[in-house]
Amino acid sequence: AASDVEAFKIESITNVQLQQIVNLDQGDPTMFEAFWKKVGEDLKTTIYGWQSLSYFANGKSCCWFMEPKLEQEIKILHNLVGNAVVEDRHVVVGNGSSQLIQAALYALAEPLNLPNPVSVVSATPFYSCYPQITDLVRSGLFKWEGNAYEYEKEGAYIELVTSPNNPDGEMRGPVVNRAKGMVIHDLAYYWPQYTPITSPADDDIMLFTVSKCTGHAGSRIGWALVKDEAVAKKMVKFIEINTIGVSKEAQLRAATILEMISHGTSSDINNFFQYSHSVMAQRWTKLRDALSLNNNHLLHVPRFPLHYCNFNRDFVQAHPAYAWLKCPPGINLEKILNEEKVRTRGGASFGCGPEYARVSMLGRGEDFDLFMMRLPKILELLASSN
Ligand code: PMP
Repeated sequence: AASDVEAFKIESITNVQLQQIVNLDQGDPTMFEAFWKKVGEDLKTTIYGWQSLSYFANGKSCCWFMEPKLEQEIKILHNLVGNAVVEDRHVVVGNGSSQLIQAALYALAEPLNLPNPVSVVSATPFYSCYPQITDLVRSGLFKWEGNAYEYEKEGAYIELVTSPNNPDGEMRGPVVNRAKGMVIHDLAYYWPQYTPITSPADDDIMLFTVSKCTGHAGSRIGWALVKDEAVAKKMVKFIEINTIGVSKEAQLRAATILEMISHGTSSDINNFFQYSHSVMAQRWTKLRDALSLNNNHLLHVPRFPLHYCNFNRDFVQAHPAYAWLKCPPGINLEKILNEEKVRTRGGASFGCGPEYARVSMLGRGEDFDLFMMRLPKILELLASSN
């Protein structure tokens, strides 16, 4: 009887697994949850009732609502990782880097005082939220104009450059390169768990976020490193009018988390970048192994060359946050994946065709494993649709 119960349990687990929808559409970064659970008691943020009542945090900084401790920890972390120049930069904190994208668009476009909205472009495949963010309130200041490779208008424009890119993981630079061009560098994924750190980024406007660095997307903390003080002040103005600053609790929590990953402790589990790198590397190995069984090459993911990573002090491959899958033209890949209850984001959202789909590599281990379990069936479906 006991073995019957066991068999029943196993069968129902399998049924549940078969029925379960695996959501790999959003890039919800829960993949490092196990790490933070192991850290446990060693990382908590206590905030007393008397703390942080004021709107203000730092009267001396141009970003008057930014907690000095967060600014300090951001600079320490960048210097340690070597992924961005922080000397002589203004740091602006935002409600996620999402708010900073809007703040930067405003800061670049508003002072131009143009009669028509400034064009905003990004090279395909571009991050699917850029068109939505740009056109949400149908601003008179800027307007989404789509693929940067096809942009031909004269005059001022803003190019959004994501490096490494969401969705395809490629390292990128601007592609329009014309006079009157302004560039916003979205470096959300320029961290050693995703890509080799080859040199410190040194651009005029660089955006980062704890969401993708440590996985604390729920805290909604992003930051911009800005060269030009006037631009930084305009971004601050945008956030002032939009949300009158950024939660002090979230900033203090983010500061504590960044402090821990910079200083760490001697035990291995506390070496965050080592851990997060190995999680991403393992998932990519599993995915590549599973795809290598697909003899008729119906499904591809990009390949990445080895580069020397100054942080890891070794030659490493990129293990991007998303797998940018491609199947033969004429097939709707998102639909095929959906048939096996794997939710992904189809190519159209990124300015590409339906033969592409983006799969998040950032979810929980169980979901990723379910995706791996369903991959053989997905390959069969592809073979029969080809
Ligand atoms: N930029 C890129 C390229 C992203 O992928 C994301 C999150 N998916 C963001 C910005 C926004 O992140 P957040 O607002 O959580 O900082």
